Amino acid sequence: MQVRSDWTLAEVQQLFAQPFMDLLFTAQQVHRRFHTPNTMQVSTLLSIKTGACPEDCAYCPQSIRYETGLESEELLELDAVVERASAAKRAGATRFCMGAAYRSPKPKDLRKVIAMIRAVKQLGLETCATLGMVSGEQARELAAAGLDYYNHNLDTSADYYKKIITTRTYQDRLDTLQAVREAGMSVCCGGIIGMGEQAEDRAELLHTLATLPVHPESVPINQLVRVPGTPLNNAPPLDPFDFVRTIAVARILMPRAHVRLSAGRGEMSDELQALCFLAGANSIFYGEKLLTTGNPDTASDRALFDRLRIVAEPPASAQSGASAQSSAAAQPPAAAQPLAAAAVLSIAKHGAAMG
Ligand code: SF4
Repeated sequence: MQVRSDWTLAEVQQLFAQPFMDLLFTAQQVHRRFHTPNTMQVSTLLSIKTGACPEDCAYCPQSIRYETGLESEELLELDAVVERASAAKRAGATRFCMGAAYRSPKPKDLRKVIAMIRAVKQLGLETCATLGMVSGEQARELAAAGLDYYNHNLDTSADYYKKIITTRTYQDRLDTLQAVREAGMSVCCGGIIGMGEQAEDRAELLHTLATLPVHPESVPINQLVRVPGTPLNNAPPLDPFDFVRTIAVARILMPRAHVRLSAGRGEMSDELQALCFLAGANSIFYGEKLLTTGNPDTASDRALFDRLRIVAEPPASAQSGASAQSSAAAQPPAAAQPLAAAAVLSIAKHGAAMG
C-alpha cells in the first residue's frame, strides 16, 4: 500500500460517504498494515505558560478576549518544568509536550523555552512544543535545541477557519508548518471537530493535511470542548459517529501518522473511545487535564486500557526503524509496556485544543 500525498478532495469526500462499517473496516486494515495493533502512543502535556493569549481562537479559554475565569500564569521556571518532566519519566512517559499560550514566542521567552527543551531532552524524553507561530529562524533554533515535534494545528477548513480565528490567517499556519518541516522537526498538526463546521469542512481539513508534501507524523483530532465564556460555548452538538468517521478517514489518508484522540476525550464514553481506537486512533494525552479542560482521570484510563488489552508504545527512538509500523504481523515492540505502568501524571493545566 502506497502512502499518498496526491489525494483529491473528491476521494476524501467519497471516504466520508462510505457506510460507517465499511469505513471502519478499511481504516482498521490500514492501521494494521502500518502500526502494531493494540499499542498506544502516550504523551503528557504541561502548560508552561497559561492564558492571556492575544489571539481570538473562538474555542479557546486561554484567549484574553473571553471571560472564562481562567487564571493566567507566566512562563514557568526551568526547575519546575524539569521537575514535572522527571516525574513524567519516572511514571513511564515517553514524550513530554510543553504548551505556551503565545501568538508567537518573543526572543527572551524562546531562550527560556529552549533551555527547557534541552533539559527535558537530557532526561531521555522525546520533546514536543506548541508555542504559536514560529519563523524559519525560530524553528531552526528549536530544532538545534533538540525539539523532536512541533504542534501547530490547522483547526478546520480554510473557509470555515475565518469564522473561528481572525487574528492570524490559514496561510500563517501553513507557513509555520513549513518552517517546522524545513528545520527538520516532526510535525504534529490536526484540527477540531464540532465547532459548527459542515462535513465538507472536515473533508477539506483532512485533504489539506493529507496533501502536505510530507504528512504530519502526529495528527491530533480534537472534539470541541465547549467552555463557558468562549464564543463556541453554544456550538451545536456533534454526532459522535461523525467524529469517529473523521478519525477513520485520517487513518486511511495518512497511514503512517499517529492519529491522536485528543481534547474532548473526557466527555466520551469508554465505548466511544474504543470505537475511535478501532477507527485508527493510536495516541492519547494521559493526564487529568488538557491545558484548561478536563481529560479522563488516569485511573479510568488505566482501567480502560486494561479492559481493551492496550499497551503503551515505546518512543520512536526505541523502535527499530519502521519495523514496528510496517507489518500487520509485527509483534509488539519489546519495550511495550502495560499502560498501567505508564505516565500517571497530574498535569496542572492543559489546552482545550492543542495537540
Ligand atoms: S488556541 Fe493557542 S493561539 Fe489560540 S487563543 Fe488559545 S492559546 Fe492562543
